[in-house]
Amino acid sequence: MTAKRIVIVGGGAGGLALASKLGRKLGLSGEAEICLIDKSPVHIWKPKLHEVAVGVIDQSVEGLLYRDHGLKNGYRFLRGEINDCNPQKKCVYLSRVLNDEGEELLGEREVSYDYLVLAIGSVSNSFNTPGAEQHCIFLDSLESANLFHKKLLDELLLLDETNEKLSIGIVGAGATGVELAAELHHVLESVKEYGYLNIDKSHLEIHLVEAAQKILPALPDKVSARAQTVLDHIGVRLHIGVQVKEVVKEGFITPDNVLINCGLKVWAAGVKGPDALQRFTALPINKRNQVEVDACMRVKGHECIYAIGDCAMLIQESGKPVPPRAQAASQMAECLFQNLLNRMKGKAENPFEYRDYGSLVSLSRFSAVGNLMGNLRSRSLFIEGYVARMMYLSLYQRHLGSLYGWFSAAVFSLAQRLLKWQRPKLKLH
Ligand SMILES: Cc1cc2nc3c(=O)[nH]c(=O)nc-3n(C[C@H](O)[C@H](O)[C@H](O)COP(=O)(O)OP(=O)(O)OC[C@H]3O[C@@H](n4cnc5c(N)ncnc54)[C@H](O)[C@@H]3O)c2cc1C
Repeated sequence: MTAKRIVIVGGGAGGLALASKLGRKLGLSGEAEICLIDKSPVHIWKPKLHEVAVGVIDQSVEGLLYRDHGLKNGYRFLRGEINDCNPQKKCVYLSRVLNDEGEELLGEREVSYDYLVLAIGSVSNSFNTPGAEQHCIFLDSLESANLFHKKLLDELLLLDETNEKLSIGIVGAGATGVELAAELHHVLESVKEYGYLNIDKSHLEIHLVEAAQKILPALPDKVSARAQTVLDHIGVRLHIGVQVKEVVKEGFITPDNVLINCGLKVWAAGVKGPDALQRFTALPINKRNQVEVDACMRVKGHECIYAIGDCAMLIQESGKPVPPRAQAASQMAECLFQNLLNRMKGKAENPFEYRDYGSLVSLSRFSAVGNLMGNLRSRSLFIEGYVARMMYLSLYQRHLGSLYGWFSAAVFSLAQRLLKWQRPKLKLH
């Protein structure tokens, strides 16, 4: 009997964890062929994108190369962008790969599967706000984080020479917007140590604009209030209850036609599935470009196709959808790993149950705040400061554990720490 081929598209929080576990369990022994497809050659855990954007982490040091990781963990990596799938023929189609000059490196490709897992994440949702696509950076991919970083470096150069002010506007005070604002402040506070002698934090003006009535609208009031106190303290200008009507080159326009003046503009409000999913006419795709799945993460009407993470729409028993979060993506990967093993042994698959362990928001070196959900308690526990910061860091540690195994992850983290101790704390090139 030939080994089954499991194709996973998207090597993020969910897809890479799944490929690594399946690879080690079935791929290394040849019991199944595991193939991971991603449009990027490098993986950075998405909750760390704002750190790439401000230069706190360096992708060339912390990034995981799929090809090399796949070789050691029993899966084959294919670089490509999924375009469509054909459930009858059991194959996916990958777009052409172009070089920087726009010349074709690889033509369109077809990859066949026995089981397909879609894990292609999400992108920022501009809700069709005029000017948003044209003038804002959407912090939703490694490329966009690198683009922001490049623009930030250009601004620092100007600032050092001209002594003007740098005004940055962020739409959306969810975890991404809040964490980015705090991290930016920290960077401007530190650049003097790296030779930008004329710059200090007084040169930075950050505008954080939120349509809801509080920052971190999805989190308990106490967490929002504490984060707001920290942001107020470091001088972030909050515009709460303000829905951006239009984005122009000079900044954001509010419903009262007031211009919030800012040079560098980031859109971090709301998510939707990648636009590529609109082309998947054979699959049930909802209005937010997400794939509709049943309780066992199987795409509705398609027994051999699964979807996990942000790109999947799974309605829980409570009637609420599973939220687009890293902890949900990794829990789905864990459950699907077991289900695929069961399925290959002819056993039943288990429905996915989302466990909310709470949320933690990093406020750079200033602190972290969040709430923890216990096993037995229905109410959440507020935490902040050092304990919250350590718990926030442990989330990444858990992700590394699923990619490398616990021992290797601990060695990897130690090596990263030693490197950080040796190297500059900021990537300013
Ligand atoms: C700045 C930021 C901070 C965040 N902080 C937190 C946090 O603190 N806690 C939390 O729980 N969540 C957080 N999130 C949300 C979390 O990152 C996502 O919910 C999670 O990464 C989703 O995992 P995923 O596997 O579905 O997708 P992703 O991790 O986004 O991975 C998707 C992968 O698919 C690839 N891909 C996309 N399109 C294609 C295509 N057409 N073809 C091939 N490959 C493709 C991408 O390159 C990527 O590797 C944050 C998000 C951001 C942006």
